[in-house]
Amino acid sequence: SKFGTTTLPDRALTIFDFLFDLETPFSRDPKAFKRPDPRGRPWILDAHSPRSYTFEQAKERTLDLARAFAARGLKEHDTVLVFSPNDMDYGPCLWATFRAGAVASCANPSYTADELAHQIRTVDKPHPVKLIVVHPDALETTVQACEKSGVSSEMIVLIRPPTKALSPPVNAKPLAAGFPTLDDLVKGARDEPLPPKVTLKQEEMKTRLALLSFSSGTTGLPKAVRIPHYAVITNVLQASSHWQQTFPLQPYDPKEKKGDVVMACLPFYHIYGLVVILHGSLYQAAPIVVMPRFDFRQFLQAIQDHRITTLFLVPPQLIMLVKQDMVKDYDLSSVRLAMTGAAPLTNEMVAAFRAKYPHVGVGQGYGMTETSTIISLLDASMPGGFPGESAGMLVPNIEAKIVSPEGKALPPGEIGELWSRGPSNMLGYLDNEKATRETLDSEGFVHTGDEGYITKDGLLVIVDRIKELIKVSGFQVAPAELEGHLLGHEDVQDCCVIGIPDEKRGEAPKGESRSLPLATYITLTPAAQSRLKSEGEDKIVSSIKKWVTDHKIKYKALAEVEFIDAIPKNPSGKLLRKDLRARHARTVKSR
Ligand code: AMP
Repeated sequence: SKFGTTTLPDRALTIFDFLFDLETPFSRDPKAFKRPDPRGRPWILDAHSPRSYTFEQAKERTLDLARAFAARGLKEHDTVLVFSPNDMDYGPCLWATFRAGAVASCANPSYTADELAHQIRTVDKPHPVKLIVVHPDALETTVQACEKSGVSSEMIVLIRPPTKALSPPVNAKPLAAGFPTLDDLVKGARDEPLPPKVTLKQEEMKTRLALLSFSSGTTGLPKAVRIPHYAVITNVLQASSHWQQTFPLQPYDPKEKKGDVVMACLPFYHIYGLVVILHGSLYQAAPIVVMPRFDFRQFLQAIQDHRITTLFLVPPQLIMLVKQDMVKDYDLSSVRLAMTGAAPLTNEMVAAFRAKYPHVGVGQGYGMTETSTIISLLDASMPGGFPGESAGMLVPNIEAKIVSPEGKALPPGEIGELWSRGPSNMLGYLDNEKATRETLDSEGFVHTGDEGYITKDGLLVIVDRIKELIKVSGFQVAPAELEGHLLGHEDVQDCCVIGIPDEKRGEAPKGESRSLPLATYITLTPAAQSRLKSEGEDKIVSSIKKWVTDHKIKYKALAEVEFIDAIPKNPSGKLLRKDLRARHARTVKSR
C-alpha cells in the first residue's frame, strides 16, 4: 500500500485505556499518530434531543456505569450483552465493560427471541452473561430469549426509561416492573467505591478479548467472532492514518463551531458502526450524532440541525440521497464526505451521486467482522474521483494477496480469492476450531470468501462473493441458518437459499424448496401434495414465508419461493448455489 505503515501500540491496553488514558500514550514512538486533545470537546450528541456528552461527561458516565456494573457482580471475562438500537449510552456501556476487563457482545436490536437466545447461549458458556442492556422496545423479546436460553431475566437492565407504557404484559405483570434502568443502577451504586481498573499483562497485548461479534463467516451458521482490544485499537489507528494522508477529519472546535461532525445512523452492534463510526470518529475528535433508527426524513433533518459533515453509510442510503425528492427540503450544504461500506458500490451509483453533490467527496471502504473492519479505503480526495469499481487501497499495516483455488498467489489483474493479514484480524471463532481453521490460516491470513483482483496501482476490486453469505441492505444473511429453519417446516424436504439481485436492497434471499416425495415424509406429504393440487401453490408458499417471518428478523424474509424437483448438488452433497443463481437469472430474463 502506498500508505505504508503506521505505529501500533507497544503496551497492552484496553479500549477504555486507549480512549480515556491521556497520560500514557499507546506508543513511545515519536512518529505515532497524535490524536487531537479530546478535552473540552463535544463527543456524543443525540440526534433528536438537546442531550449530549462532552469527552469529560462521557468518561464520567462510563465510570458511573463501571461502579454500577461492578455492584451487579460484573467480573473479568464475564459478558455484557447489549441489545439496543444506537443510544448515547451505547459507548459508555461498552467502555465500562472494558474497564472491568469484561467482554461485550452486541446484538441486532431487531432480532427475534430465537436469534437472541442463540447469541446468549453461545457467549454464556465461556463468558457468563452478567448483564443484558436492553432498549425498552426490545424488552419482551429479551424476556423470552432469557427463558429460551436459561439465563435469568434478572440480568436485564433498560438502557433508558420507557417513554410509553409497555405492552403487552408478560405473565399479567406490567413489563417494565422490576427491570431497572441504567440510571437506577448508577443511583444505587453511588456510594460504592470505584472498582480498580483492570490492567492487562504485556503478553495479553494482542490477545485479550474485547468483543464477541456475530458473523456467519464464509459458511454455516452465525458464529461469535473473537475480537481483541488490540484489533479495534489498531484498526482505528490504521484508518486514522489513512484519513490523515487523504481526507483528514477536522477536530471539532466548540468555540468556533467548526470541524467535522459525524452521522452515526449505522448500527453500533455491527463492526462498521462500532469501529469506524463510534471509535474512529471519537478518537479523531469528531463528535458523533447518534440516531437510534434509520428514517430518511429524520436523517436529513439531523444533517441540517447538527450541520453534519461526514456520512458513513451503506450503499442503499447513498442511493436515497440521489433518488429521493425530499432531499430538496433540507439544507445539506454542511456535508463534505460520504463514505459507504458493507456492500459493493457501483460506478453508476457514484457517478449519479457526484453529479448531484459535486462538492462532496465520495468513497467506500471494504472490510469484514473477521478483520475488525477496514482493510481498504478509497481515497475520497482523489481528483476526478472514482477509479473503476474499486474498494480502494489497503490501509497501512495490511498485507493482502489474491489466491487461486489451488492456493497460488496471483499477479495483478487476475481474479481470485482475497486473503488479508494485519493487526486487526480476529483471534478466531468462539468454540469453533473447524471454522477458525477454515478462515484463519496458520500464517495469519483471513480467507475473506470474496473474489476480486488488485490492479497494478494497488487498487482492490471486489467482483463477487464465493462464500455463501448473502447481504441484504448490508445485513448478513447466512443461507445455512435459513435452510436449517426451513427444514423445520412440515412441507419442506430440502431447500437452498440464494441471493437475488434487488436494486434497492442489494440482494433479497430467495428460498428454493422442494415439496416432499411420498417416500420420506410419510404423514405429511400426501397433505402437502394434495393441497398443491387442490388449492394451488400460493397457500403453501405463504405458509413457508410466514414460517420465516414468524421466527426470523425482518430482512431474512423470503422474497420468492419456487418449487423444483431436486436441489442441484455435487457428488459429495454440497449445494450448487451457483446453478440456482444462474437458473434464477434465466427466469428473470424470460419474464
Ligand atoms: P460483515 O462481516 O457483515 O461486515 O460482512 C463482510 C462482507 O461484506 C465482506 O466479506 C464482503 O462480502 C462484504 N463487503 C463489505 N464491504 C464491501 C465493499 N466495499 N464491497 C463489496 N463487498 C463488501
